Amino acid sequence: MKYIGRFAPSPTGPLHFGSLVAAVASFLDARAHDGIWLIRMEDVDSTRCKAPFADDILRALAGFGLVGDREVLYQSRRTIRYQAALDQLSASGRVYACACSRREVADSSVDGIDGPVYAGTCRDKGLTAEGNALRVRTAPGEICFTDRVQGRCCQSVNSEIGDFVLKRRDGLFAYQLAVVVDDADQGVNHIVRGADLIDSTARQIHLQRLLGLPTPEYLHIPVVTNAAGQKLSKQTLAPAIGAADACRLLRDALAHLGQSLQGPAYFAYATPAELLAIAAQSWKVDHIPKHRTRDIRSSCLGANPFT
Ligand code: GLU
Repeated sequence: MKYIGRFAPSPTGPLHFGSLVAAVASFLDARAHDGIWLIRMEDVDSTRCKAPFADDILRALAGFGLVGDREVLYQSRRTIRYQAALDQLSASGRVYACACSRREVADSSVDGIDGPVYAGTCRDKGLTAEGNALRVRTAPGEICFTDRVQGRCCQSVNSEIGDFVLKRRDGLFAYQLAVVVDDADQGVNHIVRGADLIDSTARQIHLQRLLGLPTPEYLHIPVVTNAAGQKLSKQTLAPAIGAADACRLLRDALAHLGQSLQGPAYFAYATPAELLAIAAQSWKVDHIPKHRTRDIRSSCLGANPFT
């Protein structure tokens, strides 16, 4: 089966070093497998995502030699597909409407790995979808997968997350549903992304199973954090990066991923695309650090990448 991978940024801000690392890892893994690499704009949450950021990100990626092999897919244009998946789950009795406010959920729940564990308050109330969130039922028992870097991971979605939201009260589809539908529709069979999403994987496998979809291979790379241990993001004011110093930033991204260009290879490129081609030839998954986070100081070869 042909390898199909993807990079799926949320355009909530400009490209930063953390997202560059995820783009590079997914790109190199795809190229090392002679595979196809896709870019998908995860702009399903229209309250947080802005079109100019999507354009900026694509332009910045291109400056790093990172261009998808097919047309970019935009989640904001795919609500019909998400609704079809939701209808399929509803028809099999897997979905129910929930009228609980955020406050009520927090008050009636124990803390889980991703916020409060939903106690199932509305499970058997038979509420109508109108004006309510829609949740998927979960069942006791663990969901396990073997991550290519982090190893075996198991999670009881039922007791560690609870029944989770697929469509919000405001009508927006949740990331967990959109990502599963998109990966299946695009034939994605290898997912390479930041380890901040490793705790979402069991939820996604739960949905894949309910929808009769295949489960891809997963590889979660350490997330880049700032010196204070926070994930680089718009919220933590990660600086935007551009292609002005593309090769140095790419070498820093490779260093973060435990990949090193040594010997003649170190000097053998003139453009970012050539550097990526060389890096793909020497890509070693077993050199990627098995951590969930890694701070910026250990990710950079020399100078601060933001200066
Ligand atoms: N859109 C997500 C993010 O930017 C990535 C989702 C994924 O790779 O599954 O964090």
